[in-house]
Amino acid sequence: MGTTSDTPAETADAIAERHREAAADVVPDTLGHYIDGAFVPGDADERIETRDPTTGEVLAAVPAGNAADIDRAVAAARDAFDDGWGTASPGERQRVLSEMAAVVEDHQEELATLEVLDTGKTITEAMGDMGLVVDHLTYYAAAARSVEGDTRQTNDLFEREKQVFTVKEPYGVVGAIVPWNFPLLIAVWKLGPALAAGNTVVLKPSEETPLSILRLMALVDDVVPDGVVNVVTGYGEDAGAPLTKHEDVPKISFTGSTEVGREIIHNSAADITKTTLELGGKSPIIVYPDADIGEAVEAAMMAIFFNKGECCAAGSRLFVHEEIEDQFLDAFTEAAAGMTVGDPLLEGTDMGPKVSGEQVERTHGYVESARESGATVRTGGGTPDDEALSDGAFYEPTIIDDIDHDHPAVQEEIFGPVIETFAWSDEATVVERANDVDYGLAAGVIASDITRALRTARRLEAGVVWVNHYNDVSAGQPFGGYKQSGNGRENAAEAIDEFTQTKAINVNLG
Ligand code: NDP
Repeated sequence: MGTTSDTPAETADAIAERHREAAADVVPDTLGHYIDGAFVPGDADERIETRDPTTGEVLAAVPAGNAADIDRAVAAARDAFDDGWGTASPGERQRVLSEMAAVVEDHQEELATLEVLDTGKTITEAMGDMGLVVDHLTYYAAAARSVEGDTRQTNDLFEREKQVFTVKEPYGVVGAIVPWNFPLLIAVWKLGPALAAGNTVVLKPSEETPLSILRLMALVDDVVPDGVVNVVTGYGEDAGAPLTKHEDVPKISFTGSTEVGREIIHNSAADITKTTLELGGKSPIIVYPDADIGEAVEAAMMAIFFNKGECCAAGSRLFVHEEIEDQFLDAFTEAAAGMTVGDPLLEGTDMGPKVSGEQVERTHGYVESARESGATVRTGGGTPDDEALSDGAFYEPTIIDDIDHDHPAVQEEIFGPVIETFAWSDEATVVERANDVDYGLAAGVIASDITRALRTARRLEAGVVWVNHYNDVSAGQPFGGYKQSGNGRENAAEAIDEFTQTKAINVNLG
């Protein structure tokens, strides 16, 4: 296997020492469930170790939650809803969300370092996440003031005068289930609109990455009224599933795999639980022959190597017009091969380790299967040949060419730094092929002719299309999927709709 790390004179010991020192500074010691405004032990004694994927060392252990813990958290959330949060004024909800934003802003380096240790994302990426956490909380603080209904006229067959008006009401207790790729950011994508709309929350983080949300709750303990946000750590089957089946939880917001999304839909049938599901993708990027090659390479790099490809919106199928294919692929391959893979705590590092060894195996399985099918691996395709990184879950930036579009590596979500490339010549055919997957979360179009780019954007089956850039998920931009990428939308006014139900009040004016 080749090497992609040029971290100078690093050793595994030096990296491990740096990580131990950082962990000593930021890993919290209050590591229970956070229920009713306090850190509490779990119902069972079992705990789950969370590891640093850069070194393989244990960072901490959290309770392995179960149905009894979920019951306790849901009861606390229900009491908090009934005792005041459900009827708190818009100004009060805004104040809490604004203060949460201020707390994160004051502690962003600490929270970002924790995120680096728990996920393997680089410190630059983690600081970017924290900026977005602040921005999303600020956005929803403002949105709390505009959870609004409207007035309407209706037909009355007996010609009586009526006035209909609508009010948006919270559900009560909502369940939020969060993955490991953006632990704090995706938690806030759910907490922000849920709280702005007047719900209380029980949140289950991923078993891989529970630390940042627990630290956040410790930091905002004085800001958020007791029971309004509760966090139960644990495995999906033991803690997540009971949350999705709980009769006092009428709404679930989930981000994760399509497989678990299906299970949640299945579980929602019993109580007709409402769901918002964000389930990942296999997103295309189409590069036109008039594209600026430098900009196109930059967009493709951002699409697939940002957050080591552990990104639901990752652009992982690249369609390059045949006129520029050679020139583009040479530049893209050079850029990918030149990335610095190494210690994510260092600012000069471009890509850190995957979240776990299990995810490395999963990614490599797809790459090996592509190789066996006759595909060409233009760069990467294995773990870095660098002794200093041998304890971590590292994988090389990988570009695959000459692969059949029906191959599982092309059709399924790899969730790693692996992209497949295809040449095209005809616009209608490339759009058809770009749409030829079960997913529909995101897409990219890179072109100088903006009319052509917009025409293509309209024809792509995707919840978000980026034109001449990639992977910008700002507050205020709706985010969610077509087809099997899920249902519902996050990150914008639409998210408030996801966390409210509309009541129509019809008044007889006599
Ligand atoms: P999962 O879908 O299994 O996990 C996402 C969250 O759901 C975690 O908090 C998990 O808990 C929880 N969960 C798991 N099973 C259940 C269940 N039965 N009921 C309720 N909650 C449950 O993703 P994985 O972590 O296993 O990753 C597998 C693949 O999923 C990835 O390789 C990637 O393809 C995709 N994925 C997509 C994401 C996206 O952003 N759309 C995010 C993460 C993964 P726990 O992990 O603690 O057991």
